[in-house]
Amino acid sequence: MLARAAALEEIAGRRFEVLVIGGGVTGAGVALDAASRGYSVALLERGDYAVGTSSRSSKMVHGGLRYLQNFDLGLVREALLERQLMVQLAPHLVYPTPFVVPSFPEERRDRKLGLGLNMYDVMATTRVGRSRREMRSAKQEDEDFYWSPDRHRTIDREELLEMVPSLEPRDPGDAYLFYDCQTDDVRLVLTILGEVERFGAVTLNGAEVTEVLTRDGRAVGVAAVEAESGARFEVEAENVVNATGVWADRVGSELIEEEDVPQIAPSRGTHVLLDRADISTGSAACIVPAGEDRHIFALPWYGRTLVGTTDNDFDGDIDHPHPGAADVEYLLDAVNAFFGTDVGEADLVGAYAGVRPLISTGDPKKSVDISRKAELYETSSGMLTITGGKLTTWRRMAKQTVDRLVEREGREAPCHTAEIPLGMEARPEDLEAPAGVGEEALAQLAFRYGHAARNVLRLAAEEPKLAAPIVPGRPDLLAEAAIAARYEQARCVADVLLRRTRLGLLAAPQLRDADAARPVAAVLGEELGWSRRRVKREAEAWPAALAEAGADPAGALV
Ligand SMILES: Cc1cc2nc3c(=O)[nH]c(=O)nc-3n(C[C@H](O)[C@H](O)[C@H](O)COP(=O)(O)OP(=O)(O)OC[C@H]3O[C@@H](n4cnc5c(N)ncnc54)[C@H](O)[C@@H]3O)c2cc1C
Repeated sequence: MLARAAALEEIAGRRFEVLVIGGGVTGAGVALDAASRGYSVALLERGDYAVGTSSRSSKMVHGGLRYLQNFDLGLVREALLERQLMVQLAPHLVYPTPFVVPSFPEERRDRKLGLGLNMYDVMATTRVGRSRREMRSAKQEDEDFYWSPDRHRTIDREELLEMVPSLEPRDPGDAYLFYDCQTDDVRLVLTILGEVERFGAVTLNGAEVTEVLTRDGRAVGVAAVEAESGARFEVEAENVVNATGVWADRVGSELIEEEDVPQIAPSRGTHVLLDRADISTGSAACIVPAGEDRHIFALPWYGRTLVGTTDNDFDGDIDHPHPGAADVEYLLDAVNAFFGTDVGEADLVGAYAGVRPLISTGDPKKSVDISRKAELYETSSGMLTITGGKLTTWRRMAKQTVDRLVEREGREAPCHTAEIPLGMEARPEDLEAPAGVGEEALAQLAFRYGHAARNVLRLAAEEPKLAAPIVPGRPDLLAEAAIAARYEQARCVADVLLRRTRLGLLAAPQLRDADAARPVAAVLGEELGWSRRRVKREAEAWPAALAEAGADPAGALV
């Protein structure tokens, strides 16, 4: 990415064909789609990229087995096809995980689930709705193009315990096994933004849109404020796209006080992270019963166990959603009962909550039942608002939005995003480790950056002090802080510890005080030209940022 100063110069006072507000997965996707169809594009993000819901998801690229219960078949099918495409376009970053649903002696087998899994298999195939002839001619192409998961099957107790040894004390029987995919949500956003720039678009974080400018009732640009200087600047735009997720009904509110606007019904989802020594799902993810016919997940993620999520209407502060104390208790009760363990709040290594941008239908149903469907709105000003949806379906949401732009302008500009690789794959064994960098770090770098992991390793080789881990015992390297400032517009310690790496979620107790943040602040200072006083100030600001993000389970539960 362009450095922030250069990006600001490219954007302020200029004119673009498309101006995107919001740097979560949806905004990044719209920018990529529009830029790759030949539009000139700028994107403005108020805080840091992915700071909103896109860093607070369950990190699954999935069809959503539970939406089958609501017969949201179109949504599930669409998401399953996107899942396959994402594995193809970003194989280093979106990977299949086996999921198990064990049965226990005291419980009856869930036949309904078996039926659901059959549907999930059928809906995941790219062949649904095609004639035999079409299937024959497309077969070769499909097999080359699409990753396709194995069908679900029943595994016996032995195979289950090989995958999840920690279940042994519960004496499980057989289990269902199926596949879904996982990712790092922030890295997905940053990877899409990397592609956005390859297509000539410019993106800037720390730039809050404060006003949508109009002429004769039409949206013709925006006014924004740059976070560090406080300076206001304007950008002219032929088309303004509001991709601000849960904030969608706040942006340009002077324009969208109309009956056809989205009403967001925020719903909070809490997650906790545990040391695998306390609870381990082995090599699989587990579907964990959580009472009243509800289920939660326990997922392996970055060497921890990620447990989530809840889904409750939320009327708190959507800018800083914190994990709910009652939600944490609910998650811990469910996993403790499932694994026969006794972990408590004090054992958590991290926690976070996210707010879903669900579209309210005016129906007083609970949010679990509100559809995850995306909605595109066009107000009389011409501003398009795209919100709702899922991380998994970002590409479809972007296509839907840019299709509308193309259609209203009568352009001939088909969508290309199904063919644009997201980053470039690298295998850990192809990467060269400088002294002090172990295999775990190589594997993590290959996952996180793909081919661009070489930039991190080159830096670590040139400056051996950057080959050190940020947190002792974790594979994230100090060199990543330098790369984050140089190429990813990171501006502060929290950008590095909460998003460019995920250490704030994975090792919160080790990062509780300013001392732990000093090495990162020092590296950022070197990259961004900070004084020694500023480095100290930035390190000292970190504990408050960790608390504000709601990531430290010791102080964040509400
Ligand atoms: C608990 C939870 C679990 C989830 N799990 C999954 C999952 O496993 N799989 C899945 O597919 N989906 C999941 N989702 C859904 C998914 O995370 C969201 O649909 C998606 O991240 C929304 O992305 P977005 O870009 O629309 O919104 P956001 O990521 O919130 O992006 C909006 C951006 O707009 C910015 N912004 C706001 N106002 C302004 C302004 N005035 N100027 C400039 N910028 C502004 C914000 O700072 C923010 O970065 C989950 C959601 C939650 C809450």
